[in-house]
Amino acid sequence: MERTLSIIKPDGVAKNIIGEVIKRFESAGIKIAAMKMIHLTKSQAQGFYAVHKERPFFDSLTDFMTSGPIVVMVLEGENVIAENRKIMGATNFKEAEEGTIRREYATDIEKNVVHGSDAPETAAFEISYFFNHLEIQSR
Ligand code: UDP
Repeated sequence: MERTLSIIKPDGVAKNIIGEVIKRFESAGIKIAAMKMIHLTKSQAQGFYAVHKERPFFDSLTDFMTSGPIVVMVLEGENVIAENRKIMGATNFKEAEEGTIRREYATDIEKNVVHGSDAPETAAFEISYFFNHLEIQSR
């Protein structure tokens, strides 16, 4: 059993598709082990995306991530890191496969609706960034 961090970004929350995103996870047999809605400060967004701090899109990305509330979730399941990334689709919605969340709902390479951890080490860091162990229910 594996865990990953999923975020419905401000554009996804604004588009009122929280349920649509969650439905895709549940339909794939993925369990939600933790969930909350929060509104990040700039420094919290910078800390979360610290690995990207040298990238040209860092400032814009962290502004976007603080532009409204987000939904953060811990997802649990077999191979869930890769499974979630498959359901999300490629970073650039134009390259995302048909039927993926980003292909259907993203409007922009930055405003791409969802985040998902990309490896076990990043999943561990990202989950602990938002949740303590008492807030995660193993199902
Ligand atoms: N991003 C961007 N411009 C780019 C690449 C990425 O604005 O050229 C944003 C986008 O929101 C993406 C996030 O930065 O989801 C993190 O980038 P990463 O390469 O880690 O993509 P992801 O793992 O989210 O698919």
